[in-house]
Amino acid sequence: MATNEIEHAVEHMREAGYKVTPQRKEILSYLIGHETHPTAEMIYQDLQAQDKNISLATVYNTIEMLLKTRLVLAIDSETDGKRHYDYFGHPHYHAICTNCGRIVDGTEFDLSNLPNIAANETGYLVKAYEVTVKGLCPECQLKLAENGEL
Ligand SMILES: [Zn+2]
Ligand SMILES: [Zn+2]
Repeated sequence: MATNEIEHAVEHMREAGYKVTPQRKEILSYLIGHETHPTAEMIYQDLQAQDKNISLATVYNTIEMLLKTRLVLAIDSETDGKRHYDYFGHPHYHAICTNCGRIVDGTEFDLSNLPNIAANETGYLVKAYEVTVKGLCPECQLKLAENGEL
């Protein structure tokens, strides 16, 4: 994973007035390096497995802070009922599988104008946005087709 990306995000955090502690940087790096849209528990368990001494409470607190910087986005999955997190330094849309819950990033659609268009049209001060398509992932399409359920 590009160190540049981490430095860029850390700089953004500093400019927004947040202290950059080693733990905060660790969790931010994790989110930048993983496109898996993990839950807080998943982040915590992975960091434990790497012998990083970060408590689950610190993971939650750090994520709350990162959400405020808008570097990180929360995605509530209807499939597993859990909240997932995603590095959103580069806007992208999400495709969510309604069968297995897999969340995949889509980057070939330019979302950069959406906040401005929405602000102009609605008069809202736009603070966050997300675009999601829902359906069946390729694996689930295959599985369901084999079982004659598609
Ligand atoms: Zn699926
Ligand atoms: Zn994403």
